Amino acid sequence: MSTWICLSRERRFKAAIIGRPPESAAFPRPSAGAPGAMTVKKGKRMEKIASFTVNHLKLEPGIYVSRKDHFGNVTLTTFDLRMTAPNREPVMNTAELHTIEHLGATFLRNDPQWMDRVVYFGPMGCRTGCYVILEGDLESEDIVDLITRMFEFIRDFEGDIPGAAARDCGNYLDQNLAMAKWLAKRYLDHTLYGITKEHLVYPE
Ligand SMILES: [Zn+2]
Repeated sequence: MSTWICLSRERRFKAAIIGRPPESAAFPRPSAGAPGAMTVKKGKRMEKIASFTVNHLKLEPGIYVSRKDHFGNVTLTTFDLRMTAPNREPVMNTAELHTIEHLGATFLRNDPQWMDRVVYFGPMGCRTGCYVILEGDLESEDIVDLITRMFEFIRDFEGDIPGAAARDCGNYLDQNLAMAKWLAKRYLDHTLYGITKEHLVYPE
C-alpha cells in the first residue's frame, strides 16, 4: 500500500487516467487476457453483463430466464419477471414496487412447494419488473403457476403489509398497497393468464 500512497501527484494522476496504479510489487500488472485484465473505468474494457445484452426495445412483459449460475452441483436460475414494456410504458413507482417486494417475498418463502428453493426476490433498478432466483436448472414454464399464484396473492391482499414497520424495514412508510394490487392485477390479466411462448423466451 505504501508504494501507492507515496506516489507523486503526477504519477497518481497518470495512474488514474489508465485506471490502475503503476506497476509495483503491491500492484502487479495483470497480463492481457488474464481474468484480472478485464477491468475498470476510463479506456479499460469491461464485459457487458448478460442482462444488458437483451434487446429491451423488443422486450414485452413476461417471465424470462435471465441467467443460470452453476456452483458445484448446484444450479441457480435467475428469472426476469418483466411487468411493463421497457422504455414504452411508464415504470412502476418505488412505493408500489416496495410493497410488491414485501408481499412477494413473504409469499415465496411460505409456499410449501417452493419455499426451500427460493434464493432471492427483489425489484429491478429500472423499475420495470423484478428478479426471482430459484435453486434448480429451470425454465420459464416451470414457474408460471408459482408466479401466477404469487401475483394473485398480491392482487387479493388486504390488511397490514408484512414487514412494513420501522423495526423490520429501512423505509417502512414508502409503501403503496393499492397500486401494488393494481399492478399485480394488470400483470395477471395482460400477461400471466394465458401466457404464450413469446412471453416466456427473450426476443432475439
Ligand atoms: Zn422494506
